[in-house]
Amino acid sequence: MGRVFVVDLDGRSYGCRYCNTPLALAHNILSRNFNCSQGRAYLFSKVVNITLGTPVERVMISGLHTVEDIFCCCCGQLLGWKYVLAYEKNEAYKEGKFVLERWRIVDNVEEELELNLDAQAGSQGSQATSQADSQAGSQVDSQADSLAGSSDTENA
Ligand SMILES: [Zn+2]
Repeated sequence: MGRVFVVDLDGRSYGCRYCNTPLALAHNILSRNFNCSQGRAYLFSKVVNITLGTPVERVMISGLHTVEDIFCCCCGQLLGWKYVLAYEKNEAYKEGKFVLERWRIVDNVEEELELNLDAQAGSQGSQATSQADSQAGSQVDSQADSLAGSSDTENA
């Protein structure tokens, strides 16, 4: 209790769904086109206030990776995973990056920024998984929602 130092994020951020601890900044999103077993997941270049599990090898859609599970440092819930090592050269860009499962985090992002991010995310075909997305900005979200082949699925 009280031993965990919580980093505050300055700017629009995503936080833990359960304890609202800030986890990542919206401008550190690299991709919104990842998938987990529960739906969408986002790739971040940097996250804070997490603890990491032990490295394990896991087979994803895009091949074999060494990953570490990511847990909230305050409430301990599983948030996603970090890519430690990608065995496929094409996937090496993910090494050292963090995936947070979308349904485990809450969105403190203002709508204007959401639009900008979606514009960057490109306009690949959309087989929207909008059913689970009842949070603010879901209209905007579903436009860029893509389950294209580059996605990963956690093989739980
Ligand atoms: Zn938490």
